[in-house]
Amino acid sequence: MKLRWSVTVLIVIVMAGAAGQAQAPVTTKVAGAGGGIVITALGHGSIMIESGGKVVLVDPAGMFADLSRAKPADLILVTDIHPDHYDPAAVAKLRKPKAPVVVPPAVAAEKKIPDVIVMQNRMMRTNEEAPAGITVISVPAYNIQRGPAPGQLYHTQGRGQGYVVAFSSLLAAVRTGKASQVYVAGDTECVPAMAQWVKNVDVAIVPMNLPYTMTPAEAAECVKGFRPKIAIPYHYMGQKPEEFAAALKGSGIEVRMLNFYASAGTK
Ligand SMILES: [Zn+2]
Repeated sequence: MKLRWSVTVLIVIVMAGAAGQAQAPVTTKVAGAGGGIVITALGHGSIMIESGGKVVLVDPAGMFADLSRAKPADLILVTDIHPDHYDPAAVAKLRKPKAPVVVPPAVAAEKKIPDVIVMQNRMMRTNEEAPAGITVISVPAYNIQRGPAPGQLYHTQGRGQGYVVAFSSLLAAVRTGKASQVYVAGDTECVPAMAQWVKNVDVAIVPMNLPYTMTPAEAAECVKGFRPKIAIPYHYMGQKPEEFAAALKGSGIEVRMLNFYASAGTK
């Protein structure tokens, strides 16, 4: 009897843990500095950001994401060459006619997405160059220490990039904190360029999965460096994003959990 009770308790605890993850929503609304923002987890590294009637997709990729939730995009941003981020077929399907697609040079070199806007690390497209009227800043994304073998890195410096998406074409509005801003970090460890390029963002969406990016604890320490109002874990396959939330308790940075693995049934 006692043993059976223990087993029952154990099963309830395990199920409650799994349910906690599954019950996280796939979408959340944020009151941004320049107007409301809706963020939707499409899966793993794929995100939809909506504000001011514009739809931005970051890394729409069918590998681990449920793209049936994605709306036709006014702007698509691709962070790197790996197939969980770069999916030319998905881009073709979700791109509104003539919608701009921003890619790093390594993605452009594949020549699989027509009419791309190429941005290298540390660039800004704003004012008359703002794609779809949205200011875009490319923030370096790379590994500092982690790679498949000594002396190698999963993501080499200069190839991939995260993006700050600011919902205004006017740099003056962005600089004076009047535009809603979201930072999607891409596959990266905590790199110094973040402190330089990521400022006053409403939301930061940061990766945490080993061995490719950061641990949840490292990611939490990292966001303390540039202090978004809200931080959302993504790209957390195999990790416990709850540890990220716990590490930021009392920091003044709100953590919102989205279920990035609702369709895959994995974590
Ligand atoms: Zn990835």
